[in-house]
Amino acid sequence: MSLPADYHTHTPLCRHATGEPAELAAQAVRIGLSELGFSDHNPMPRDDFDDWRMRLSDLDLYVSKVEQARREYPGLCFKLALEVDYLPGHEDWIRDLAERHPWDYFIGSVHYVSPSWAIDNPVQLSEWKTRDPLEVWTAYFERLTMAAESKLFDIIGHADLCKKFGFYPTEDCTALFTRFLEAARRSDVAIELNTAGLRKDCKEIYPSPAIVKLAALLGVPITFGSDAHAPGELGLNLGEAVQLARNAGYTHCARFTRRRREIVEF
Ligand SMILES: [Zn+2]
Ligand SMILES: [Zn+2]
Repeated sequence: MSLPADYHTHTPLCRHATGEPAELAAQAVRIGLSELGFSDHNPMPRDDFDDWRMRLSDLDLYVSKVEQARREYPGLCFKLALEVDYLPGHEDWIRDLAERHPWDYFIGSVHYVSPSWAIDNPVQLSEWKTRDPLEVWTAYFERLTMAAESKLFDIIGHADLCKKFGFYPTEDCTALFTRFLEAARRSDVAIELNTAGLRKDCKEIYPSPAIVKLAALLGVPITFGSDAHAPGELGLNLGEAVQLARNAGYTHCARFTRRRREIVEF
């Protein structure tokens, strides 16, 4: 089975990943990927927003490194993208970023459920212990639904990132998932099957089989991503993600070029 496109990867410019675009491209060729999307963490208007994304002054360098790698590996299909944090109030900034380069797609991700708490940041793990998981999951999925409705993104990233450290509500969250997926369907935005969850405490692909099944029923398109933060993570477990998608009933996934979507068999 050939691997699907890996649409979620990072570079050292975000300050917590290794592997320059050319090294990732070399690895892509080695493992037999035919399509590689770069989706590093977007810059914010102020570089002191946090310390795990590229600085604004590095945005052009990021694009030129991807373009340089593209020239070095003409046999590989490259996509130029960003993983963009969705925060309410940042919409104009995201539109501004969209204008700056010929992006193939934007992955919209929710990491922050408040201006200061990124729920997946290990440095802020203690915050979880002061919260009711249902309250956090509800806030997270409300933001994710807003991200889907914003029309700013082509793909929604790691749709149940809130499970990362294993803090699960005891309550049934199907209504939260359904509301988000219906918004994705209405706004014609895809979700990604992201294998990084397998490398975290939750030990499960994002999103869960239950969410993937609901997404298939509703007809929400999908993409695949390893969320690689090092060359050795590129394409990791994408075969399992493909199996998860097939089990839910998917036979096709989405590709993006200059923010236009096509649906292809995988
Ligand atoms: Zn990251
Ligand atoms: Zn992310």
